[in-house]
Amino acid sequence: MRFTILTLFPKAFDSYLGESILKRAREKKLIKIDIVDIRKFTSDKHHTADGKPYGGGPGMVMMAEPILRAVGSLLRSDLRGRWRRKVFILSAAGKQFNSKMAKNLSLNTDHLILIAGHYEGIDERVKKALKAEEVSIGDYVLTGGELPAMVLIDAIARHIPGVLGKRESLEERRFGIGVPVYTRPEAVAYKGKKYRVPPVLLSGDHKKISAWRSRA
Ligand code: SAM
Repeated sequence: MRFTILTLFPKAFDSYLGESILKRAREKKLIKIDIVDIRKFTSDKHHTADGKPYGGGPGMVMMAEPILRAVGSLLRSDLRGRWRRKVFILSAAGKQFNSKMAKNLSLNTDHLILIAGHYEGIDERVKKALKAEEVSIGDYVLTGGELPAMVLIDAIARHIPGVLGKRESLEERRFGIGVPVYTRPEAVAYKGKKYRVPPVLLSGDHKKISAWRSRA
């Protein structure tokens, strides 16, 4: 699956997308992630990508044209045209992203274009022109859409066969989301108190262990 992120802050992605499981998935070509700097699609020598809002207001709004040009150039490069493609605008007001969406996207999309907003957000005409969907990662407002873009990629990539190794296999399938986990040592001392691993996990009795996990 291919992901393309459009952003004003391309460096924001370097570390997270270049580490651990996502790094390995990229190396194995199970996923491809391209970061597109929206400023490269501006048309003035200052690379202006934002402007004051019509109607007034303190913040700046990301201009439509550089974003539309950037997406246009991506679509031209997908000449084979048989990609199942979606364009998402990250927005606090969008549809709430969840695990079901992550799985569906992993199965039914070849190319996901993610547009990360900043400042006061993105000129509304981008959404109309691209027939894009607005997607939120939660009921709070962040300073930019860069983290939400990475959240989507991470959650979707986990559903792509081969991205998770045996060791990391889908936790929600093995244990259920949020089941407590422990590792060595059996007792952890902190401020004079000892915190022990629940004895059932040391029992070697797999039936009892799964019963405990399903109750936990
Ligand atoms: N005035 C804007 C509004 O009411 O939506 C807030 C813009 S916010 C400061 C800047 C950018 O962060 C947004 O354009 C969006 O891309 C991103 N963003 C903020 N919170 C988000 C969330 N919960 N989910 C997805 N994207 C978010």
